[in-house]
Amino acid sequence: MSSSLSTHPFDDDKLREECGVFGIFGSSDAAAHTALGLHALQHRGQEAAGIVAYDGERFNSHKELGLVGDIFSDQSTMARLTGSVAMGHNRYSTTGDTEIRNIQPLFADLSIGGLAIAHNGNLTNAGTLRQELVRRGSLFQSTMDSEVLIHLIATSPCDNVIDRIADALGKIEGAYSLVAITETSMIGVRDPYGVRPLVLGRLDDAYLLASESCALDIIGAELVRDIQPGEMVILDGGEPKTRFISANLKHKPCIFEYIYFARPDSVMEGKSIYQARKNIGHELAQESGVPADVIIPVPDSGVPSALGYAEESGIPFELGIIRNHYVGRTFIEPSQEIRNLGVRLKHNANKTKIAGQRVVLVDDSIVRGTTSRKIVEMVRAAGATEVHMRIASPPTSYSCFYGVDTPERKHLLAATMTIAEMAEHIGVDSLAFISQDALYRAMGETLRNSENPQFCDACFTGDYPTRLTDEENPTRARPSMLKELKRA
Ligand code: SF4
Repeated sequence: MSSSLSTHPFDDDKLREECGVFGIFGSSDAAAHTALGLHALQHRGQEAAGIVAYDGERFNSHKELGLVGDIFSDQSTMARLTGSVAMGHNRYSTTGDTEIRNIQPLFADLSIGGLAIAHNGNLTNAGTLRQELVRRGSLFQSTMDSEVLIHLIATSPCDNVIDRIADALGKIEGAYSLVAITETSMIGVRDPYGVRPLVLGRLDDAYLLASESCALDIIGAELVRDIQPGEMVILDGGEPKTRFISANLKHKPCIFEYIYFARPDSVMEGKSIYQARKNIGHELAQESGVPADVIIPVPDSGVPSALGYAEESGIPFELGIIRNHYVGRTFIEPSQEIRNLGVRLKHNANKTKIAGQRVVLVDDSIVRGTTSRKIVEMVRAAGATEVHMRIASPPTSYSCFYGVDTPERKHLLAATMTIAEMAEHIGVDSLAFISQDALYRAMGETLRNSENPQFCDACFTGDYPTRLTDEENPTRARPSMLKELKRA
């Protein structure tokens, strides 16, 4: 893929969720249901998608770069994905990592039978494990963490595939939600901290696994429950069976799912994402209200928080910025000059709601600050007399190592500037972020437990729930290093 093609429909100044997973066991329409589930999870990855289906004899797979609707709209493709068991994966990755060989699900013919596997998240010791496996003679086909897991499963001394998967997972660190198909079952696993989401659903006699409940809604399936941290669910035709892969279980779901990643119509851990975002808006207005004439969301992710802010403050909510949903996927940006126009291609000011007004802009986060700066410039050019910015997350000061694409720390605005400096840089009259405790209140907690936080909030606090083994191991075989060597 050329780097001059912008293939991402969303804002490139956001943290980005890297994957979505979906699986269904026991459906006569398994592949079609999976394609629909992946379509509902498209916001979690837009660069590639794959489905593997199992018909009792063969594993059939189709993987491509592109959007789910384009990849799986072809009747002949769907006709080949036969079987009552299917799973799929949406992928987002940084440019250059998007190669066909890196698209999930991965399939392996093991001595104990076929195995297809896909995961959402990131293993924080995958590079170190890969180094050890290569030293012992393993050959890798891709740069994906999942392949490390396949090698660990292949070399496990356990007798059956379920024990082998549990054994392999015992060696890995990090955050993941995993779905696998064996010749007799479908398996779903969530990491021991439950950082990445995974839910169990039901449609008639079929059971489903999905990153978010919106993927169940699209096919009329009911949400049964969240998979618990460290839980392995085994679907093999009867009632789901459960075992735990670790004795050291702590519940720390990613708080950014609630702020930005998840779709607002999803429910996670019993919480409505939409309501959590509105609660954040209420808390923001209480903490850092400012006299103003209009509350304007930065679309689309700022909308629920802006609604909450407007409700709490009594100041009217208006759609003062309109987003063009069709820009970004295939728009060719041939020069820096045109790239600098990016935000105007995506957003336009609704001048009738801005001219002569004191505006509060509500956004979910500030990453590099490039988009915020351009939006503020645009709102001022549309005639705003004052521009205040309110952010529905605490300052993003640390990188995520758990399957979310974040810039290096030195590129995070909040890691290098004070809030006053950020306000000046972005060009606003005032800037405020929600405090950590207010964010936790919005999530229904009394306050943040600093000894044992109820969520992963490491990108705000630097308080990582797991070891970052690869970061501590300067000699590990990084996938990006492998790629550079290959290109040289
Ligand atoms: Fe989520 Fe931030 Fe934790 Fe990453 S570091 S899992 S984005 S809360």
